[in-house]
Amino acid sequence: MDSTERRRGDGGRNEVRPGPTHLRGRAGSLDAYDPLAAQRTAFAAAPGVVSYLDGNSLGRPTADAAERLSSFTADQWGGRLIRGWDEGWFEKPLTLGDRLGTATLGAGPGQTFIGESTTVVLYKLIHAALDLRPDRTEIIADSANFPTDRYLIHGIAEERGLTVRWLDPTEVETTSSDATVTGIRPDQVADLAGDSTALVLLSHIDYRTGYIADLPAITDIAHRAGALVVWDLCHSAGALPLDLDAWDVDFAAGCTYKYLNGGPGSPAFGYVASRHIPAATQPIRGWMGVASAFEMGPSYEPHPGIRRFVSGTPAVLGMVPLESMLDLVEGVGMEAIRAKSTALTDFVIELYDELLAPLGVQLGSPRDGSVRGGHVTIHHDLCEAALPALWERGIIPDFRRPNGLRLGPSPLSTGFTEVYEGVLGIRDALLEAGASG
Ligand SMILES: *Cc1c(COP(=O)(O)O)cnc(C)c1O
Repeated sequence: MDSTERRRGDGGRNEVRPGPTHLRGRAGSLDAYDPLAAQRTAFAAAPGVVSYLDGNSLGRPTADAAERLSSFTADQWGGRLIRGWDEGWFEKPLTLGDRLGTATLGAGPGQTFIGESTTVVLYKLIHAALDLRPDRTEIIADSANFPTDRYLIHGIAEERGLTVRWLDPTEVETTSSDATVTGIRPDQVADLAGDSTALVLLSHIDYRTGYIADLPAITDIAHRAGALVVWDLCHSAGALPLDLDAWDVDFAAGCTYKYLNGGPGSPAFGYVASRHIPAATQPIRGWMGVASAFEMGPSYEPHPGIRRFVSGTPAVLGMVPLESMLDLVEGVGMEAIRAKSTALTDFVIELYDELLAPLGVQLGSPRDGSVRGGHVTIHHDLCEAALPALWERGIIPDFRRPNGLRLGPSPLSTGFTEVYEGVLGIRDALLEAGASG
């Protein structure tokens, strides 16, 4: 239903304003010329959902995910039973890791594994990096990073008696009218990096503002200081092309349930540059990470390859939907996905300027598309109050306390008209919650 037609029927006060027809027309033509428009049918229908803008938090299922899960259960698990371990399951963390590495990370084979949650994978990689710099005492990290990253660093620094040098994100883009957009700049890392730095842990894309850090420059700065980098790619993987090998990244991790649509709790990936693998150790030394798992040997002998980062039985069932998404990603390529993503978030900002800025909503993400990730954050004090009405209407953004909405239109599953409906609905809900403009 078009919100121009929608009336609450309570006679006035909450009457919804019409949507500007030129913006609807523009959305229609962007859809008509979208080379990836047909990909939207590759995702499961969501009855009642008018606009799904939370691909940055949980991607939608592919259309065949349910079928794949059920046939896996019937044929593989049910039919092959324990034989399945010899027929691909045991290798799955590495075979699927290689696929994901090639399709999305710019990682050559033998460097990517599918592990546990991002939190656990990061824990392993941070320890591994620190073990490679035993004489250094400092970690550089972002004081405003996603909580899990900060908590891990706190805990690991405490465990190992290290000092954390916290970086506060600073202004990265200035415009007169918008909120201050913050992120971590290379010069900030350069100011702190030195002989004592063991490790720099940062997110490639800021989960709040969507700002894309200069990963190659920061990696280079860390290396010049003799330190290693661990990059959190949660908001990058599946949203934009990565080139980890070429950028000389040491370690990286990311989740598969955001832009990689693997489903709630789908396991995270880890990347370890091949040059580090032979000397790398990790703290969760389990039976699946050894040279010969089924020998049940007396002591831990790490596998010579990336398998040493596998700990216990992998979440084979949890990897099934991710395989379906990788089929799609391999089909279109990350360059095309990034182009669509930027077009979608450009359009969000165009809609913001016309529909939301007049209500006093502030833009909290970069206007410059080249440093903007897959989502756009907006701020208004009535966002929380507007949320129930939005959800009720099938418009689903991501609320961030205290006053933010993140709008993350997942590139393959989202259309421009859907984005238009979503932003228009946000305007209406804010007006109903008492915003004026
Ligand atoms: C989503 C996200 C995580 C998630 O961690 P899990 O252990 O998978 O829950 C971690 N770091 C960042 C930056 C994220 O955006």
